[in-house]
Amino acid sequence: MSYDYDLFVIGAGSGGVSASRRAASYGAKVAIAENDLVGGTCVIRGCVPKKLMVYASSFSHLYQDALGYGWGKVEPSFEWQKMIEAVNKEVRRLSQVYIDMLEKSGVELIHGKAVFLDAHTVQVGERKITADKILIAVGGEAVKLDIPGIEYSITSREMFHLKEQPKRFAVIGGGYIAVEFACIMHGLGSEVTQIIRRDLILRGFDDDIRKDVQEGMIKHGVKFLTETRVEKIEKKEDGLELTLAGKGAGKITVDAVLCATGRQPNIKELGLENAGVEVVNGAIAVKPDSCTSQPNIYAVGDCTNRVNLTPVAIAQGRAFADTVFGHIPRYITHKNIPSAVFAQPEAATVGMSEAEAREKLGDNVIVYRTKFRPMFHSLTGADEKVMIKLVVDRVTERVLGAHMVGKDAAEIIQGIAIAINMGATKKDFDNTIALHPSSAEEFVLLR
Ligand code: NDP
Repeated sequence: MSYDYDLFVIGAGSGGVSASRRAASYGAKVAIAENDLVGGTCVIRGCVPKKLMVYASSFSHLYQDALGYGWGKVEPSFEWQKMIEAVNKEVRRLSQVYIDMLEKSGVELIHGKAVFLDAHTVQVGERKITADKILIAVGGEAVKLDIPGIEYSITSREMFHLKEQPKRFAVIGGGYIAVEFACIMHGLGSEVTQIIRRDLILRGFDDDIRKDVQEGMIKHGVKFLTETRVEKIEKKEDGLELTLAGKGAGKITVDAVLCATGRQPNIKELGLENAGVEVVNGAIAVKPDSCTSQPNIYAVGDCTNRVNLTPVAIAQGRAFADTVFGHIPRYITHKNIPSAVFAQPEAATVGMSEAEAREKLGDNVIVYRTKFRPMFHSLTGADEKVMIKLVVDRVTERVLGAHMVGKDAAEIIQGIAIAINMGATKKDFDNTIALHPSSAEEFVLLR
């Protein structure tokens, strides 16, 4: 049987674009459908605009720090609209870069929402398109709390389009998105209250990261309401009134509420049932090679809810294309994936947390940890600390996890991740000459 395409990809985000280009490089005839801006969550409404806003927010600290180095006091002024326009201009530029890359790779871009009619046929607008293989790469979407007045809250998606800077800003949740936006908005001068249902943010991270980031944020001036739930949101004359229960019971009034309580696969109205694609716990069920329950249909990225990070979706997409179109079978192990929280202070991690290692190895775990004031702050007077930690297997001496809180943690952990991925031991770290003076050198000086 002949089809319109060898591969039809649904969703032009990080996973879909990388898979389609790699498949086309093997000579496959490929089309990709997108019903929004090309680039997906990461480029359009996630990592990229977020990181630009992280940079924007970092200047307020730097102006302050400069005083200790002899710079005169400046009265900084900040224009929210100017930042939003600059960020969105860059996002549109990158989206065009993605479109150009698809074109250069020979991938046909089709605008519109794709819906499965059967395992080899999708409908996009009026067109019925057939393909031998279909890749689903539709990403995820924010999940909001089910409470009265939740419609007054926004998600991270709307953060990049707010017309005005909310002076009083509340964040619900303690994950990556909540923590990053709490820090961004605080750095830009908003009064920030973060409401979490537990005592600590960033569940799943090493406990030292969780404690140190939260402590650092509190020191900077973010207000935390821990073990607190939002019961309802009401629109009042002077803002949005949140009714709170638990430890922080009471009411607060703010100008904007960000609901960052998690994300889910964006698979509604895809017609998966028409194609016989199995969904388990709200995500597309896949085998290690990203194949779904339907042998010619694959899925990568957040819609499969494995590890929901851009580089993972890209790696899954390329592994799929190499396996199916390049005949180089391979799959992603999802081990030792580094990740960072672009908070202030920044945190980054790779490998096992101390708790995970102890659960797996019991007493056969050695932890090396140091906390110090980085040289940069010896003249600023700011009470800033760096935390560096290695989790080591006592028997094999292999480094199982590395964790850091402090400036440039993400940049530093990326390098450490290579060593850990290669199976480096504590001795390998010790045998490495320090790069002095730096914060990163502490990773090879731990005793
Ligand atoms: P997360 O799953 O990381 O965090 C969700 C947060 O919401 C948790 O703190 C959770 O609390 C809380 N929560 C969930 N349900 C409720 C509820 N009913 N009431 C109160 N609080 C609740 O989701 P995010 O939305 O922050 O991020 C989604 C994904 O996006 C992440 O998993 C990550 O993969 C990706 N991402 C990565 C970034 C990066 O790499 N820097 C940046 C941003 C996003 P609890 O801990 O108690 O469960």
